[in-house]
Amino acid sequence: MPGITRDRKYVEVEWFGKDFILIDTGGFEFEKGESMSSMIADQARISVEEAEAVIFIVDAREGLHPYDEEIADLLRKSSKKIYLAANKLDTEDKKDEAAAFYKLGFDNLFPISASHGLGVNELFDEVSAQLPEAKEKTDDRTSIALVGRPNSGKSSLLNKLLGQDRVIVSETPGTTRDAIDSVVTYEGREWRFIDTAGLRRKKVEDIEYYGTVRTLEALDRADIALVMIDAVESVTEQDKRIIDYAVSRGCGIALLLNKWDLVDEEQILKLEKDVDRKLHFIDYVPIIDVSAKTGKGIKKVFKQIKEIEVEFSKTIKTSELNKFIRNLDINRFPSKHNIRIGYVNQLATKPPKFLFFIKPVEAVNTRLTSFLEGHLRQAFGFNGTPVKILYKEKKKT
Ligand code: GDP
Repeated sequence: MPGITRDRKYVEVEWFGKDFILIDTGGFEFEKGESMSSMIADQARISVEEAEAVIFIVDAREGLHPYDEEIADLLRKSSKKIYLAANKLDTEDKKDEAAAFYKLGFDNLFPISASHGLGVNELFDEVSAQLPEAKEKTDDRTSIALVGRPNSGKSSLLNKLLGQDRVIVSETPGTTRDAIDSVVTYEGREWRFIDTAGLRRKKVEDIEYYGTVRTLEALDRADIALVMIDAVESVTEQDKRIIDYAVSRGCGIALLLNKWDLVDEEQILKLEKDVDRKLHFIDYVPIIDVSAKTGKGIKKVFKQIKEIEVEFSKTIKTSELNKFIRNLDINRFPSKHNIRIGYVNQLATKPPKFLFFIKPVEAVNTRLTSFLEGHLRQAFGFNGTPVKILYKEKKKT
């Protein structure tokens, strides 16, 4: 998964049953003679802030470097668990060279060779064993994540949403880390807004509360993602990556174009063009113009949540699906194969998932999936929700 923030990569890892996100900070690069402390402060602070544990890699072939000590000082100040990995010890007999790094004052010292894979299992066994268990979803409420780039207006909008008349809010512990969710009651519905405590209270100093890991964690738990886009800045790569992730997680999505009070005609045109061009892969999602400042569009947000909730959970009757297949003119799909679809089953909801029995399976490709998805949407709606399509070989009849 490409990094949501340019300089850092985020990778999902499963290590013997433990799931976690590994952040690659890209390392701290120092120019010769440069005082590095100020330079690394930001990167280090952000990555460490987001993390549960830190793997600090040193070059054991080079030996202890003054920069190592500076980084160690910085890491010690965080209260995170630190694992020191002494790298480039490519053979067993070199392991002792790691000992020099005990001077840095960390107990968890692992001699490794990243290129040969030596010691890496031991390191990750230990790291993953110490990570807290992720807790499962706690209730049946539809859960909603408000996500977007820093400064897109998440805090402002959330406060506006939850400050509406007839909205009742109570805080409840979230299921990951120190997250606090809000249970929101509005017009007889109850939703769980994920990890809202920090956003509601505004930022602490200048540290961004809603960092990338919090965003990913929120989307992992979300049924519906409200993706905020700063209308002034228009659609950025980072917005796209957040949306990609939300789609891959099967979230229902609404796009909120915020700061509408600030954009003029020309900016609106550019925005429309950008949405069309860069976000064509989610042409099924509702788009709402909002302003956290003036309150424009706020009521519509609740209305859309309700509608997406319905689409996201919709079950199509078998008889309707049979009719759908009867009416589907598969010959209009260009393929060198003579495609036959036997029938289709809905396997799941939240999001809707369909199994097509098809012959020959060799005909399956992403174009066919788009074709079928398009027809399913035409027939049944599914606004604002992803639709998953799977295939199985149709047996001879
Ligand atoms: P967050 O980082 O996504 O939580 O963004 P904030 O809610 O802190 O908003 C970032 C900045 O944008 C703040 O200065 C807000 O006052 C401003 N802002 C947010 N929404 C709007 C809006 O709709 N209109 C205007 N004019 N400013 C906004």
